[in-house]
Parts: sequence; structure tokens; C-alpha cells
Amino acid sequence: MTGLISSARNNLSFIARLLLLLASCLSLAAPATPHTAQLQVHEQFHVRQQHFSCTLEYPPGSCLRDLRQLLGLLEQYDNAGALGAWQWVVVARSEWKPFSTALGIDEVSPAMTSFLNHQTFLDEALFDVFPGRGSELVQRFGVPPKQLLILALTHELGHAVCRDASEIGAERFAQEIRRRRPGRCDAAAAPVWGYRLSPGR
Ligand SMILES: [Zn+2]
Repeated sequence: MTGLISSARNNLSFIARLLLLLASCLSLAAPATPHTAQLQVHEQFHVRQQHFSCTLEYPPGSCLRDLRQLLGLLEQYDNAGALGAWQWVVVARSEWKPFSTALGIDEVSPAMTSFLNHQTFLDEALFDVFPGRGSELVQRFGVPPKQLLILALTHELGHAVCRDASEIGAERFAQEIRRRRPGRCDAAAAPVWGYRLSPGR
């Protein structure tokens, strides 16, 4: 899962042009030169400053369902407003690997975040069953398929909340919020984002 610095633009239907400056989580090294990639997306809805989009090729029958699932998971975390304006993009399975390849990053990684442009991209394979891809992700990350989405999302929140491109920093934050403890960024003395407990718990 990848932290990116990008030069993307947010519009109802935009073309994201990403300038890759940083390595992906699990790849061995950052590319020596910047790469660019394009994605066409349609924004479906927004909740406060959180904007939710699917790529053009995302199955229409799954787009809203998957975005609502994503929103539901995000709402488990307190202080979502701390992110400010943010765009969440689910990327069709057919587009993910070309997108990753164009950026020169690890194509197995199912998510990436541009914390400078306030965007996070998630592979459709985190929401639905794709036999070959599913086993690839399970093998890489070592968790059951149903846990992959929350694993990826909490990790990307580490990049996003901490504005931290490092995998160690993002994952440290993610591990804390997965345990329902306040997340801490390496550079911050105080917790920056806590887990929202459901009423009555
Ligand atoms: Zn990462």
C-alpha cells in the first residue's frame, strides 16, 4: 500500500495525473524518475468534506455499494474532519494494474494515497471476489480476504492522517487504530485520531 505525492486534480469527472515520488510499501525501491498515470473518475457523493468516486470502468452495480461500505468503515474512526477535503476513489479491477504499472509501483499493493493532493485509491479487489487476485493478496498480506479492506484502509489512513510517506510510519499508526487505540504519528506527541466507539460500547 502506497504513499504518493501527486499532482492530481479533484473534479466531478477528472483525470488524475499522478507524479510518483515515493516508493510503494512493499516494493524494493523507489523509481529513479517520476511517472505519470491517468484515471477517469465520477464522483458519486460526498459527506462533509469526504468525496467518493468510482473510476469510469467500475461496475455500475457495485460502485455505490462499495463506496457506502468504504464510508461506513471510515465513520468508525473519530475526527474524520482532521483529514480535511479528501477524495476516495475505488478503481476497477481492470484499471488497477495498468494504473500501478504506469506509476511504476508495486502492482500487488491494493491501495495508494496521495497525502499532498488528498486522494486515496483502492483496488476493486478489496471489495469483491476475484479468485486470482484474491489469493495474491492473501498470500502477500497474510490475512483472510474479508480483512483485506480494513487492513488496507487503516494503513492508508496512516499515510493520510500523518502526512507520512513512510511505510513504517503509516503502519505504526494503522496498527494502533486497528487495536482501537488512538493513532499516533511519528512527528506528533499527541494522538491524532482515535477509534470511534459505537454508542453503548
Ligand atoms: Zn503504504
